[in-house]
Amino acid sequence: MRIYVLGAGSIGSLFGGLLSRGGHEVVLIGREKHVKAVNEKGLRITGVEEFVTYPKASLYAPEETPDLLIVSTKAYSTKTALECASRCIGKNTWVLSIQNGLGNEDLALNYTRKVLGGITTNGAAMERWGVVRWTGKGITRIGVYPKGEDDFVRDVVRVFNEVGIKTEASTNIIGWKWIKVIVNSAINPIGALLEVKNGYLLENGYLQGILVEIAREGCQVAQQLGIEFEEHPIDVIIDTLEDTKDNYNSMLQDIKRGKRTEIDYINGKIVEYAESIGLKAPMNELLVALIKAKENLR
Ligand code: NAP
Repeated sequence: MRIYVLGAGSIGSLFGGLLSRGGHEVVLIGREKHVKAVNEKGLRITGVEEFVTYPKASLYAPEETPDLLIVSTKAYSTKTALECASRCIGKNTWVLSIQNGLGNEDLALNYTRKVLGGITTNGAAMERWGVVRWTGKGITRIGVYPKGEDDFVRDVVRVFNEVGIKTEASTNIIGWKWIKVIVNSAINPIGALLEVKNGYLLENGYLQGILVEIAREGCQVAQQLGIEFEEHPIDVIIDTLEDTKDNYNSMLQDIKRGKRTEIDYINGKIVEYAESIGLKAPMNELLVALIKAKENLR
């Protein structure tokens, strides 16, 4: 399969690296220093598995169209990245977002009807240019966005599993995207504001009720929008905190590095959707403001 990765940072390079090792024709579209390192020395994956692989890397999308364009920028970069790469989205190209937050797939729908939604619980971090650490194995779910079925989903699921990306197909990917966003809407800002590891959110008796109330707000919005859940988000929050108890969440890591967070696409989207149907999401609104205030502190 010919696969381009748009926004080859941590998670995109991990997926691209595994697909390249598996014999697929991969182009990593990323930033200059990473592109240069990958083209000169190959892409090194460390952590869960250790290997070097040699995908092509480029600053821009090649003109030739791929079968699959994986979008893996941060959510705030999706609009610009898709605009820059739009020339490679051919009539047979499927666009798959493996990003967190809501709205990424909707932006892709401006270019093609062949859009796949995705979520992944794999963890990856850039160690240095050209080197990505696979910090934890997880599950990836993909499906036609917003809903539906297509044979191509089966092909991607097969290819991903063959190269070592454990993946399942879903006919309700929008439901999974909402579960992930509700889970992140509770864990990420609270962990970031308190600057604690995920496990602490389970240990501190004051916090459990707060996490549940934040999640409830998101669940109410989703329910009004007719989103169906395969698992209850509150159960997923507890499982996630147990599985990642030693990790600092990505929102906290972004703040510590002085980077912008994805708050607008997580809690901010819940607020936006709530308002669109005449509801309020005051806890989410407060968290957006607090995280922005914290971003401004640095
Ligand atoms: P990341 O390491 O920052 O990677 C994104 C990369 O895309 C950055 O190098 C960024 O460069 C680059 N980029 C942005 N716009 C671009 C463009 N127009 N052309 C080429 N490159 C561009 O972020 P990440 O951690 O991989 O996360 C990506 C998404 O996946 C997020 O939505 C995140 O929540 C989600 N996710 C991540 C993980 C994980 O473990 N890392 C797991 C699950 C889901 P600049 O920094 O210069 O903009």
